[in-house]
Amino acid sequence: MCCESKRRFLLLYATQKGQAKAIAEEIWQQAGAHGLEADMHCLSEMDKYNLEKEKDPVVIVISTTGTGDPPDTARKFVKKIQDKTLPPDHFAHLQYGLLGLGDSEYMFFCNGGRTVDRRLQELGAQHFYDTGLADDCVGLELVVDPWIDGLWLALKEALQLQKEKEGMKNAVNAVSSSLSTAQQAVHELKLSSEVQNLKLEDEGARNSDILSQKLDDINLVAPSRDTEPSLVHSVPPVSQSALNIPTLPPEYIEVEFQDTQGENPHLSSLISEGTTFEVPVTKAVQLTREDAIKTALLLELDIADTAFEYQPGDAFCVICPNNVREVEKLLHILGLSEKGDVFVSVKVKQGTKKKGASRPQHIPERSTLKFILTWCLEIRAIPKKAFLRALVECTSDVGEKRRLQELCSRQGASDYTRFIRDSNVCLLDLLHAFPSCKPSLSLLIEHLPKLQARSYSVSSSNLYQPGRLCFVFNVVEFPASPSRPVSQKGVCTGWLAELVAPLLHPSKNSQDAKGESSSTEKISIFPRPNNAFHLPADPSVPFIMVGPGTGIAPFIGFLQHRQKLREQHTDWEFGETWLFFGCRHQDRDYLFKQLQRFLENGTLTHLKVCFSRDSSTAEVAPPKYVQDVLRLCAKEVARVLLKERGYFYVCGDKKHMADGVSDAVVDILSMEMEADKLEAMKILAMLREAKRYLQDVWS
Ligand code: FAD
Repeated sequence: MCCESKRRFLLLYATQKGQAKAIAEEIWQQAGAHGLEADMHCLSEMDKYNLEKEKDPVVIVISTTGTGDPPDTARKFVKKIQDKTLPPDHFAHLQYGLLGLGDSEYMFFCNGGRTVDRRLQELGAQHFYDTGLADDCVGLELVVDPWIDGLWLALKEALQLQKEKEGMKNAVNAVSSSLSTAQQAVHELKLSSEVQNLKLEDEGARNSDILSQKLDDINLVAPSRDTEPSLVHSVPPVSQSALNIPTLPPEYIEVEFQDTQGENPHLSSLISEGTTFEVPVTKAVQLTREDAIKTALLLELDIADTAFEYQPGDAFCVICPNNVREVEKLLHILGLSEKGDVFVSVKVKQGTKKKGASRPQHIPERSTLKFILTWCLEIRAIPKKAFLRALVECTSDVGEKRRLQELCSRQGASDYTRFIRDSNVCLLDLLHAFPSCKPSLSLLIEHLPKLQARSYSVSSSNLYQPGRLCFVFNVVEFPASPSRPVSQKGVCTGWLAELVAPLLHPSKNSQDAKGESSSTEKISIFPRPNNAFHLPADPSVPFIMVGPGTGIAPFIGFLQHRQKLREQHTDWEFGETWLFFGCRHQDRDYLFKQLQRFLENGTLTHLKVCFSRDSSTAEVAPPKYVQDVLRLCAKEVARVLLKERGYFYVCGDKKHMADGVSDAVVDILSMEMEADKLEAMKILAMLREAKRYLQDVWS
C-alpha cells in the first residue's frame, strides 16, 4: 500500500471492532480525488513505517477500548512512544492530525486517541490539523464527516509547508491560492463531540453528488396532511432541498452460488482472538421472579474437559448467532429463501475500484448463505450513511429512493439521527419500510459489520467449583416502536434464553432419574482476560465491592474464592470485605439471597443492600441506590481507602450507576479529608492509577 508520490501522506489506524479501519479506508479512498496518496498501515505494522524518519504529514485514526485503553493493535506502539528516555524533541520533525473514536458513555472518552495525541505533543510533534474526537454515543459521523472534509485542505497546506522547507517553493503554486481559506477552515474546525457545535448545513458540495430533485417530481413523500416527518416521510425543508449525498462506495465483493456440498467452517475460524471452546450448558437458573421488570438468568458451563482457564474478575466472550426468524425473513425479502443451505464462495470483485479491497476477515471464503447471515454479519447493526447511499441504487420506487437519499444527505442529518440512529433501525426495518429496495447479498457483505461475540463477567471461582464457569445476565428486551411493531430481545441474551428454556422449564422427558434436568446444548466461548479486575494479591488488604443488579456477578466469584482460601489457609490473615448491592424489589430481583451465607461464615464482613422501588413506612426513607448507601458509610469507606490502602471495585451499569458511585466517593473523600472537591478528585485519580479503584462496567 505504499506510494512514492510527492503528495504522499502516511495514514495509520488502530482499530478494535473495525470502525477506525473503515474510517481510515474511507480517507484512503477519498485521497485520490484530492490529488493525494495515502500510505496506509495498521499501527501494529511497525516494520512498514518509521515515524522517527517520517517527513510527510501523518494522519492517525485510533479508537478506544476497555476502560479507556488504546486498541490491542496500538499497544506496542503506545508502549514504544511512552518510553521515558525519549527526548522532548524526539518527534520534532513530525506533523500529524489525529482522529480519536470513543463513546462518551464510558468514563475515559476517546482516551486511546488522547493518550497518543498527548504523548506525540510531549515528544515535540506538531498538529497540522486539529484533533477530532468522535462520539459513538451520538453518532461518529457527526465529527468524522466534517473532520475528513477539512482534512484535505489542511493536508495540502502541510505538504506545501514541507516543500517550502525543502526549498522547492516553485513546485507548489497550484495549491497556494487555497491556502488562506484552508488555514481558516482548519482553525474554525474546533471539533468536539458536542453535537450542538456542529454546523452540518455548510456549503459542503465537495466530493458529493448533488441532487436537486424537488418535491413535485416525486410521489412518495408525506401526503400534504402529514406535517410530521417519519422514517419514510419527509417534510420541508428537507423534502424540498437539493441534497448533498455521499459518493457511492465502489462495489468490491462478488458472491457465487455453488453446486457442491460440504461442511461449514468451524466457529473458531470467525474470531482472531485465540482459541474457542465448545462447552455444554449444565445448569440454568432464573434468579428473578416472574413479575420482575427484567429477567436475570444464571448459566453454568462445564469447562472440565477443556484448557479454558480463568480467575475471578475475568470476563469471557460468547459467540452468538442472529435470531433464526430474522435470518429467515431476510432470506425471504432478498428472494433467497430456497438458497439458504446452498454454499457460496465470496471473493473480491475483479477490477473493483475500491483500493486494497480484500474479503472481510469475518466472512469465510466458502460457506452456506445461512451460515453467513447467522454467524458472521451483525444484521441488527444500525445502517451507516454509506450503506444507505448504496441502498439507493437497489431501490426502484422513485419516492423511496428520494427518502433514502435524504436520510444519507447532509440536509437529512437530523432525520438520520432521529429516525435511524436513535430509533435503532436495522436493515430488516429498512427493507420493510422501503419495500422496493432489493439489495444483493454482496452488498450486505460489504456493508454489514462483523457479528461481535458478547462479553460476560465470570460469576464463579475455579477453586470453589472446579471445572465449572458460571455467569449471570439480564435478558435484554426492546419494546415495540413506530419503526418496529414487534418487541425484540437482545441478540445474545435472547438466543441464550431460548437455548436454555428446556433447562428452566423441564418437561418430564428431559429429567433424569433424580428428577434433575439435563441438557446437551453447547455454546462456544473464548477468554477475555481482565488484567486488573482481580482480588488484591495480598489477602490481608481490605476491599469494597459495589455491584448492583447483574453487577454483582464477579463478586460472587470473589467471595467463593475467598471462602475457599479461608478454608484452605486457616493461618492467613484476611482483610475486611464490604459488599454494596442494590436492586428494584427485595422479593423480585434480589439475585443472590445466599449472600447471607457468606456473611454468616465470615467471608463477607459487611453486606449493605438497598431496594430502589420498594415502598417504606419508615420515618426516614431508606437509601435507594448503592451510592446513597456508600454515603451513609462514608467514614468506613474513607478508612479502607485512605488509611488501610484498600481496594474499591465497581461493576455493572455504566450509564446510571458507575458515575453516581464515583461522585459519591469524591464527596466522601472530600468530606472525610476536609479537602475541596478538586483535591478529592485528584486522590480518586491516583487510586485509579494505582489500580486500587477498579471498574468493570457495561451498558
Ligand atoms: P444486543 O442485541 O447487543 O443489544 C444491546 C444494545 O444494543 C442495547 O443495550 C441497545 O443499546 C442497543 N439496541 C439494539 N437494538 C435495540 C432496539 N431495538 N432498541 C433499543 N436499543 C437497541 N451483561 C450482563 O448481563 N452480565 C454480565 O456479566 C456482563 N458482563 C460484561 C462484561 C464486559 C467486559 C462487557 C463489555 C459487557 C458485559 N455485559 C454483561 C454486557 C453484554 O456483553 C451484552 O452487551 C448484553 O448482554 C447485551 O447483549 P445482547 O446481544 O443480548 O444485546
